[in-house]
Amino acid sequence: MNAGITRDDWAHMINGAAAAIRAEHARLSALDCVAGDGDHGATMLRVVDSLTKTFAPGGPEDLRICLRNAGWSVLGVDGGASSSLMGTFFGGMADATECEAPLSADQLATVFEAGLMGVRKQTKAQPGDKTMMDALVPAVETLRATADAGKSAAEALCDAAEAARTGAAATRNFAAKYGRAKLLGEKTLGHEDPGAVSVSLMFAGFCSGLGESKGESGNARS
Ligand code: ADP
Ligand code: MG
Repeated sequence: MNAGITRDDWAHMINGAAAAIRAEHARLSALDCVAGDGDHGATMLRVVDSLTKTFAPGGPEDLRICLRNAGWSVLGVDGGASSSLMGTFFGGMADATECEAPLSADQLATVFEAGLMGVRKQTKAQPGDKTMMDALVPAVETLRATADAGKSAAEALCDAAEAARTGAAATRNFAAKYGRAKLLGEKTLGHEDPGAVSVSLMFAGFCSGLGESKGESGNARS
């Protein structure tokens, strides 16, 4: 039985994403030392701090307003390419007309698709170019496919997390074509893209956070 994703569920999803990023920020910076300037973990800590503040109790009840505020607040983070793309992702979600909670699986997929559409206006990077798109595109596509297959929003989100993880892992095999890492190109082979790993961690956190919110002991499968 799927009761839909409420604004409170979103707060848990965001907290789950924040916990996943906080646990791994050192690894994110280490990956960015290989391919960039080593700041990715620190930037992502600031990103999730601003996300959790936006969704904290006492904030707006309206999900669209929360997502819009989240987008602006992440865009305002002192960071680099990743915070700008992440801010666009969350802000873009607010453009979905379906974003009135509680969300069905279909509506949740539409909201994430709107976020991805926003990111696509900002970057031409495609899966295979070794950026966060390697995790984000399969995550959102899987969310849509799982929702269309009639599964619950919680299940769709966990399947999306798995797709993001696979997508991030595959970036080891690619040479960077975008961002600072582009300067190193083939020297980035053998290492995951830090932004793709961040996206994968965030989706894993969405899945576990929603599982906690729905009281399903960390496994949001029903
Ligand atoms: P910066 O490169 O400005 O220091 P971060 O280190 O925080 O920013 O983030 C780097 C990550 O941002 C990369 O690993 C990649 O996933 C993502 N990224 C950078 N440039 C682009 C781009 N043009 N398109 C998509 N993703 C990008
Ligand atoms: Mg960097």
